[in-house]
Amino acid sequence: MTRPSTVDLHLHTQASDGSMTAQELMQAAAEAGLRTVAVTDHDTVAGLEAAATAARSHGIELVAGVELSVSWQRRTLHIVGLDIDPDADALREGLERLQAQRRERARAIAIKLEKLGDTGAVRWVEATPDNRQLTRSHFAMRLVEAGVCPDAKRAFKRYLAPGKSAYVATQWPTMEEAIGWITAAGGTAVVAHPLKYPMTRSWRHRMLAAFRDSGGSAMEVCSGNSDAEAIRTGIDDAESFGLRASLGSDFHGSSQPWIKLGRLPALPENLRPVLDRMR
Ligand code: MN
Ligand code: MN
Ligand code: MN
Repeated sequence: MTRPSTVDLHLHTQASDGSMTAQELMQAAAEAGLRTVAVTDHDTVAGLEAAATAARSHGIELVAGVELSVSWQRRTLHIVGLDIDPDADALREGLERLQAQRRERARAIAIKLEKLGDTGAVRWVEATPDNRQLTRSHFAMRLVEAGVCPDAKRAFKRYLAPGKSAYVATQWPTMEEAIGWITAAGGTAVVAHPLKYPMTRSWRHRMLAAFRDSGGSAMEVCSGNSDAEAIRTGIDDAESFGLRASLGSDFHGSSQPWIKLGRLPALPENLRPVLDRMR
């Protein structure tokens, strides 16, 4: 697993919480030697058109994607959809519902932050155009810019992570619903960064089984910060649950500077890649 992959199937643009424009992102992807990338913004497909234009101008193949928040067993998981038709009705309706929930959550976070002394947070949320998805990373950036926190990581640790003072729990769609929207849009559902959730190994296995039994077919075996051991775990899980393998950095630009774009090892030969054309 030493050969670097030219594929990165989990990138974010400004349309969700990536801080880069589509052009900047594809420029960086080209410089990193990537040939095929997926843009998978949080709960929106609004950035895909600009991404397609930018990808073309850099000779990069763009896979249309999205990253959906779902609730499973009182936890929040992320399900990536790859090779989707962004105009499919079921997906469009699902995204509208998610976006309304996200707006509601953003307002609730802002109200909490105002109580903690961040005056203007609610006004800032209200001034954000409806087509921009406000994620917790946006709030983290706001806290960094205001000088409240030295960096985004600490903004999460102090305010935005589950259980912290500005955290708002949300009931997202179920895993079954999200997989259904992705499949109805012709796409493939992928468990995003399966090792990033605070759960034990046996819960993770339960989650992967439930995902597969709900019609999901792939998982990320390698993510931005995966070390060799994490990748081995990913490969084992993909094999034991009969899931196809995806790989993606979860690159967010300068809002999460510790994650680098690309630089993922190529998938081992014995795994079935998430997209047939990757073989
Ligand atoms: Mn994110
Ligand atoms: Mn995610
Ligand atoms: Mn992501």
